[in-house]
Amino acid sequence: HHPERSTVWVGKVGAQVPIGPMTFTFIAGPCAVETPEQTLEAAIMAKAAGATLLRGGAYKPRTSPYAFQGLGRKGLDILAAVGEATGLPVVTEVVDARDVAEVAEQADMLQIGTRNMANFGLLQAVGEAGKPVLLKRGMTATIEEWLMAAEYVAQRGNLDIVLCERGIRTFEPATRNTLDISAVPIAQSASHLPVIVDPSHAAGRRDLVVPLARAAIGVGADGVIVDVHPDPEVALCDGPQALHGSELRALAQAVRQLPPLV
Ligand code: PEP
Repeated sequence: HHPERSTVWVGKVGAQVPIGPMTFTFIAGPCAVETPEQTLEAAIMAKAAGATLLRGGAYKPRTSPYAFQGLGRKGLDILAAVGEATGLPVVTEVVDARDVAEVAEQADMLQIGTRNMANFGLLQAVGEAGKPVLLKRGMTATIEEWLMAAEYVAQRGNLDIVLCERGIRTFEPATRNTLDISAVPIAQSASHLPVIVDPSHAAGRRDLVVPLARAAIGVGADGVIVDVHPDPEVALCDGPQALHGSELRALAQAVRQLPPLV
């Protein structure tokens, strides 16, 4: 019932960044906020390459309970301060409905990760938080289930939702997940919501991030979100997929060279 494709605006009034059909939005930042220095350095790299939104995880949903779980509230403070210093609105994941108000206070956009796409209580909570939502596709979810998850958010009055294809689980072990590139135009035609792609979490390998981002641009995605780290070899989370500065610049060039489909 919504014939026009929507644009979602992220950030403070007067400095808002659009995600939608009018542009191609480039989001970059560290997988996890580790230290103020690492986050600032990653943000400067992201901004220099042309990113207009900063990503960074403070609450990390890790497969292993023994892996780095993120800095939590301290990480949120660091991310917000770095966003302020660099003038980049910030997007960060919220994993627990009890943390939504606290995260919404600091972040410009709330991310729902792949593991929580069908956490309906959390979806309802972010639907009431008054901030745009980045809704990742569940790694085992159909497109229909993903769109229904978006309905849980919308039902609570929040239509500022951006969908993110981040790979699905298949039998292929060469990549961590298989980027379902066909999901982009399918979701765009079934929904008015913007659809972006996360090639970093799909592949789990930095050598595939630029090619997959180019595929996202080619298929008409409304943006990409990628991991970058000043020193990926010592990253506390997902280092093998984080881009170095030179690779981020190659990605920025790909974004400039391949204009989005209209
Ligand atoms: C992330 O973006 O930090 C993340 C954990 O992504 P996903 O939920 O897609 O695995």
